[in-house]
Amino acid sequence: MAAAHVILDYDGEAAGFRAEVRAWLAANLPEDWPPQAGERSPEERAKFRQEWNEKLYAAGWICASWPAEYGGRGLSQLESLILAEEFSRAKAPLRADWFGDTLVGPTILRWGTEEQKSTFIPRILRGEISWCQGFSEPDAGSDLASLRTSARLEQDGEDGGHWVINGQKTWTTRADEADYIFLLARTEPDEPRHKGISYLLVPMRQPGVEVHPIEQIDGAAEFSEVFLTDARAPAGAVVGGRGNGWTVAMTTLGFERGVSSSMSHQRFEKELAGIIDLARERGATADPLTRDRLVQQWMKVQLIKFGNQRLLFDALNGTHQADALRATTKLWWSRTHQDTLDLAIDLLGPDGQVLTGDPAGEGSWIPGVGLRRGRPDYPASALQRAFLFSRSDTIGGGTSEIQLGIIAERILKLPRAR
Ligand SMILES: Cc1cc2nc3c(=O)[nH]c(=O)nc-3n(C[C@H](O)[C@H](O)[C@H](O)COP(=O)(O)OP(=O)(O)OC[C@H]3O[C@@H](n4cnc5c(N)ncnc54)[C@H](O)[C@@H]3O)c2cc1C
Repeated sequence: MAAAHVILDYDGEAAGFRAEVRAWLAANLPEDWPPQAGERSPEERAKFRQEWNEKLYAAGWICASWPAEYGGRGLSQLESLILAEEFSRAKAPLRADWFGDTLVGPTILRWGTEEQKSTFIPRILRGEISWCQGFSEPDAGSDLASLRTSARLEQDGEDGGHWVINGQKTWTTRADEADYIFLLARTEPDEPRHKGISYLLVPMRQPGVEVHPIEQIDGAAEFSEVFLTDARAPAGAVVGGRGNGWTVAMTTLGFERGVSSSMSHQRFEKELAGIIDLARERGATADPLTRDRLVQQWMKVQLIKFGNQRLLFDALNGTHQADALRATTKLWWSRTHQDTLDLAIDLLGPDGQVLTGDPAGEGSWIPGVGLRRGRPDYPASALQRAFLFSRSDTIGGGTSEIQLGIIAERILKLPRAR
């Protein structure tokens, strides 16, 4: 690979934008921000979130990279990064309904019909509808093109008919809350695997859609199996044309793994800072082995940061190495994160084996993951939940073995694995 540009600060134009965001935050955040843990009641938090979302919407900070004609501000990638950096610095929430704002919204803007744009984009911006992603199936994960869910167009009436969808999706995050699912289904069964797939926007709240939550290792159940039995969607629900679903899905996955991930090192830095504090509280910082592990993890987190910066500058410079860079970054952050949380649990010693969360609590807020509610009889603490959830880091968004395959074949040019 050619050497990537490493620029550790941004230039003058970007500094002006940074000042604008900083000034807006100073003018709009409450004076005592950020609140201390437990300082606000759940009702106060909900009220703040609602008012804050309205302010974000009025200022155009929600989906700010979208074109102005669709309610965004047309921010460049660099400006989007600065926006996220400044909100993170001020510990201010920047609404990101991951599936709507980051995945399906931009995909509809790229591939959707004018009708799809006018139906869905304003509702996504206002936060009126929530989404889930129906790609994986019981026998189609890494090998997604082997998916078997089918969709058949039935012509009945003047409006072009409707799709009838049958099959099963799995690991569908937030399926129990979603109003719509963007899913892949086989619509052209006689075409080769990648060519017979379409990308459909399907309402979740209908008799043909059944959601069965899957309980996870920490008692939470934020993903589900989704059973589709003669589920229906309007004929106009296909995004990007019939049989073109593979290409459209790759666009969505590009957004999933894209530049927004350039910010991910910030959460790992914050998390590690908390773990170093934990080591201090427990008097472990004098132990040479613990010191060594803390320093190792700090260096690894710095490397996540440099990997993310390379991804960003690849996008800014149009050097088109994103696939290779994403694979190395994904492999590195997921393994590093697991090692960091192994260290945290080791620091807790025997206490790490006792469930120390609040059984009556509302769940734990895990940075980068969100609120995880477990079962009342399994009260894991925030750190224990983060440790348990980190086991999935090397699976979701592409497994480590798949990343290794990409590195072997596309970067090292090794022969294809059989
Ligand atoms: C927390 C979480 C949330 C998720 N949310 C969603 C969601 O909202 N929507 C959605 O559609 N999916 C979601 N997924 C599913 C995710 O995309 C899949 O788990 C992932 O793509 C792997 O697929 P699989 O689980 O079927 O495993 P498989 O693909 O069956 O893999 C099993 C094992 O075989 C290995 N393997 C497979 N192929 C190869 C190969 N070619 N070479 C070497 N080794 C290989 C894998 O690395 C793995 O170890 C989520 C997953 C997680 C963990």
